[in-house]
Amino acid sequence: MSELKTNRLSSAEVRQYNKRLIFRTLLQTESATKQEISVRTHLSIPKITQVLNELTAQNLVQTSGIQASSGGRRPEAFCVKLDSYMAAGIDITRHHLNFSVIDLRGKIVVNQRISEDIDLDEKFYLRIYNRFMQFLGEQSVNYNKLIGIGISLPGIISPDNDFLAYSHVMQISRPFDLRPLRDSFNVPIAFFNDANAACMAECYTGHTPSSFNFLSLSNSVGGAVVIDRKLVSGTSGRAGEPGHIMIVPDGRQCYCGKKGHYDAYGSALILSEAADGSLADFFAGLRSGNQSCKQIFNEYIYYLALLITNLHLWSDLPIVLGGYAASFLAPYLEQIKAEIEKMSIFSENNEYLYISSYHYEASSIGCARYYVEAFIDSL
Ligand SMILES: [Zn+2]
Repeated sequence: MSELKTNRLSSAEVRQYNKRLIFRTLLQTESATKQEISVRTHLSIPKITQVLNELTAQNLVQTSGIQASSGGRRPEAFCVKLDSYMAAGIDITRHHLNFSVIDLRGKIVVNQRISEDIDLDEKFYLRIYNRFMQFLGEQSVNYNKLIGIGISLPGIISPDNDFLAYSHVMQISRPFDLRPLRDSFNVPIAFFNDANAACMAECYTGHTPSSFNFLSLSNSVGGAVVIDRKLVSGTSGRAGEPGHIMIVPDGRQCYCGKKGHYDAYGSALILSEAADGSLADFFAGLRSGNQSCKQIFNEYIYYLALLITNLHLWSDLPIVLGGYAASFLAPYLEQIKAEIEKMSIFSENNEYLYISSYHYEASSIGCARYYVEAFIDSL
């Protein structure tokens, strides 16, 4: 009789699994004793001791003092050295740069948004490098502690991660080479689509469901599909392009050249341009009862509800609203739900709709977080 095939892990793989488990357990708490780690992980004290010794030798864990005890020898507590390594994210848009540095827990150490027109020309590489290094210097961040820098752009990144393959927003007529930017830095660099990066930030918060549709409501509308906390890329890496879903046949002109796409009805520019370019001013006008703002907003909500209803009918997945327009939408959630209610064929209370807690910084944090997760997975 032939032997049964098993999927057993080797002892080295088990050790690595335990190490990651203990490190993630410590990341979820301020500090913990070996006994507390044992309760949470169901691992034995000798195994925990061995892993803690390894993590301490790697400068990732330190003792955080002695815990109070009701009697006997007081146990030692351990915590992650959060500042031992950091990751950075750069979000590049047509008119802004957003820089973030996060610690191993994903918490923002520093963040900065700079207004600046960005052109994809020969000066682009040095300009981004210099601006970022200037930011690190001004914020006193040690470059040598960075485990990687994720860079997001408003467009499609080529599967080999070397080119911005397509971007209407950045006005390129052929793929733009990103390799010189990668070569400027001597730390790992990866490029991401901006909406995917914002969605990655959402995946790691733990506040959102494990599978969902993500709508990035910014000056252009993007999106992403997440199944079991993993981005679905699709056959051509183009999954999640809700901005170009046709919502009104032969309707308004979309920036892509076709007509009636959602972006022409859902771009944040429709709101900000009604208030001299300021989204914050638009919502201030709406709150103060400005009739013109109200009319524009009601139409905006109508088309948003239409898109959400269609996406939910198709996927039966929760919808997370992100992007900088979404950061203003929390007070209007009930209005959006009421509009969906009118369109939906199912009698449900629309509890599948969430609003992201991030604002302008979502994409830069999401791509920085990529390196934090990769780092922990490599332990
Ligand atoms: Zn379009």
